[in-house]
Amino acid sequence: MPQARLPDINTSMITFRNKICKAIDDKEWTDMHGYLLALNGTLPPEYRVLISTIEHNKIAKEDTTYQCQSCQAEIPKEEIIVFDLLPSAMERLIYADEPKKVWNCTKCSGLPNDLTTTIISVSKLQNPSFLGVVPDAPQRKDGLMDRLKFDMQTKQWGLGTLAELEQKMAKFRDDHWNKGDNEDDMDIDTSTEESEQ
Ligand SMILES: [Zn+2]
Repeated sequence: MPQARLPDINTSMITFRNKICKAIDDKEWTDMHGYLLALNGTLPPEYRVLISTIEHNKIAKEDTTYQCQSCQAEIPKEEIIVFDLLPSAMERLIYADEPKKVWNCTKCSGLPNDLTTTIISVSKLQNPSFLGVVPDAPQRKDGLMDRLKFDMQTKQWGLGTLAELEQKMAKFRDDHWNKGDNEDDMDIDTSTEESEQ
């Protein structure tokens, strides 16, 4: 990595950031997409943001678990089947109960768990906004999404992607700013320094 590229990339970052922000303000989505892609392209391949809904979903997936009231096990949401437990004739008479939403634990054979009192835990990634991966841009589908909603989602997507790019840029800067003359920088053009000596 020639060190000379760092100021270039810094300058591109500033120029493109301004263009992207202006495009967002003006709701010029085609421009915004173009500048985001161009900025991504100025970064070395290993620092680029991946744009892929499939990859994003793999990483950003939240882990939701339901705690069993009998054995305290944390059961993944995918394994939970919620069903209606009809109240007995007596319960209906006394409490006028509606059917109760319950689920059975897959780890023990305890009583069905009452969904309304189940402890549900959602484990989120520590910093979900900096994954290095963003989903594909929102698509406007006529009739399905109104203009306002599409604009809002596209703006959010643009800002999120820009934030990811800034994060990558910061990492790139940290990795290269004070690197000095290690093997990676052997291809620096040193002709100027040599001619001064
Ligand atoms: Zn259990």
